[in-house]
Amino acid sequence: MLDSWLSARSRTFSSSGIRKVFDLGAKLENPINLSIGQPDFDMPEEAHQGAIEAIKAGKSSYTPTQGAKLLIDRIQADVDAKYHDSDRKAFITSGTSGGLLLVALAFVNPGDEVIIFDPYFVMYEALMKMIGAVPVCINTYPDFKYDVQKVADAITPKTKMIIYNSPANPTGHVATREEVEGIAKLAAEKNVILVSDEIYRCFSNGEFYSPAQFNSQVIVLDGFSKSHGMPGWRVGYAHGPSEMIQNMLKFQQYTFVCAPHVGQLAALKALDADMSSHFEAYRQKRDMLIDGLSDLYDLGNPQGAFYMFPKAPWGTATQFVEKAITKYKLLVIPGNVFSRQDTNFRLSYASSVETIERGIDALRKLAKDPD
Ligand code: PMP
Repeated sequence: MLDSWLSARSRTFSSSGIRKVFDLGAKLENPINLSIGQPDFDMPEEAHQGAIEAIKAGKSSYTPTQGAKLLIDRIQADVDAKYHDSDRKAFITSGTSGGLLLVALAFVNPGDEVIIFDPYFVMYEALMKMIGAVPVCINTYPDFKYDVQKVADAITPKTKMIIYNSPANPTGHVATREEVEGIAKLAAEKNVILVSDEIYRCFSNGEFYSPAQFNSQVIVLDGFSKSHGMPGWRVGYAHGPSEMIQNMLKFQQYTFVCAPHVGQLAALKALDADMSSHFEAYRQKRDMLIDGLSDLYDLGNPQGAFYMFPKAPWGTATQFVEKAITKYKLLVIPGNVFSRQDTNFRLSYASSVETIERGIDALRKLAKDPD
């Protein structure tokens, strides 16, 4: 490949930080892996059956751009029951990531400013750079709360969008009603698009609020990857004001075409399953880590998703993680992958109780083993 073959957009971001951890981890025997960004449970039996039936019935065709009718009807009914807004329309995306790409393509121009909260989900920053937008980071350290005043101060005439995520990756922060309502109303007042990534909605210790409850123009992105343990099936959904949704669909038609057909029918059946024992198990795993580490680590206040973002007790996060991997076989991700600063690291508790116990033991030793 000639270097000149690369597009300018290819040069705007890199994915090397997270890959480095995975490459190091691949060389270790029996590592303590607390770096995983997906559930450690499989999709429910109902979804297995749904997928098998769909395959046997030859559901290998495209679905309509907006998704398989039965799945949309089911999701639309839930949206109607929650929002009572006849203009709020749902459609099926290729994962929540697919929905993110569509909002970026449909609404953001090169040069537009898009507000994200630092630490952020890696894709937000990369995606904005990819399309030539300017990610504007709101620093949320040390407690990772969303400060409405800081958002208000960051809004300029160029601000087009705010991408908001609660429960949050990588911090585990769950926004309170006050934070959610504040941001939702601020976006309405300033005519800024608010995108709410709700993929961890089911993994929350407290009550879940969507900004769409307080601002009818909010685009909600959600999906089955985390809540139903099926990230490889690539099924998500979006809902929002019908005109905005129509504009997203235009881009779906000429990019993804549709979400995978069999995956959509598996997701439809997954909705019949009770996943609550998995959510409860993750709450218990989070409590194990809090009990096992909070005397030695500043953990923030992780209330949801399946992550926490502790401060490295010595060194930079990169130095700390290097020693965690090489000396203790502990895989975690350095904070600079998710942030403009390199002070914290991401711990995922989507793992077995035994792995978490080994992780706590290693982290306790590491805290007392500075370089
Ligand atoms: N949003 C956030 C905050 C995530 O953490 C992830 C997955 N790690 C996604 C979106 C993408 O999920 P999907 O598999 O639905 O594309």
